Amino acid sequence: MSDGIKSLNPLERAFQGAKAVAAGLATTLKHAARPEITINYPEVRPEIPAAFRGLPGLPPTREGKTWCISCNACARVCPPQCIYITSHKGDDKKLVLDDFVVDANLCIMCGLCEEVCPAPADATKTDYPGVAIQLTHLYEFSGYTHEDLVFHLPQLEQIGAEFNRNTSRDLPGKPGTLRYAEKEVK
Ligand code: SF4
Ligand code: SF4
Repeated sequence: MSDGIKSLNPLERAFQGAKAVAAGLATTLKHAARPEITINYPEVRPEIPAAFRGLPGLPPTREGKTWCISCNACARVCPPQCIYITSHKGDDKKLVLDDFVVDANLCIMCGLCEEVCPAPADATKTDYPGVAIQLTHLYEFSGYTHEDLVFHLPQLEQIGAEFNRNTSRDLPGKPGTLRYAEKEVK
């Protein structure tokens, strides 16, 4: 108890106490009258803004293949160096992708991989999404080990396909790029 309170007589103390209780109640009532700003997650899902940056995925071609040309530009620019690409030279001397790995334990969802990804030669195809790697709206992933969050090519293709199925987001700076949101990706 502070010296100030100690020096008060019982009546004054009771008055000070009631004043403090009234101030607390006023604050509670003020907030009770405000509209709710929280949601009952995960039962209620938040609305994700179009430009939200979640885990990168690999949007597929109509045939369900990746657009990636194994140029490594994304792996080189990635700040935490969490992209690992392995490829080999095909019969036509072009690089053929063997595996594409994103370590989600390290990814900071900065979007630089999407920004640097170049258009492959057949970018005029109408279903080209503008990039071969694309940040999706996926933000919920967990695992028991580090390895659980290391995503390989099939998983990244699945993440990219799901995203394109569920959104028609246009890429910033790349207007007019076609999203095949309603198209069933096989
Ligand atoms: S979003 Fe950023 S951190 Fe994540 S893979 Fe792409 S470049 Fe790397
Ligand atoms: S995702 Fe894009 S930047 Fe990365 S290796 Fe493939 S084509 Fe190159």
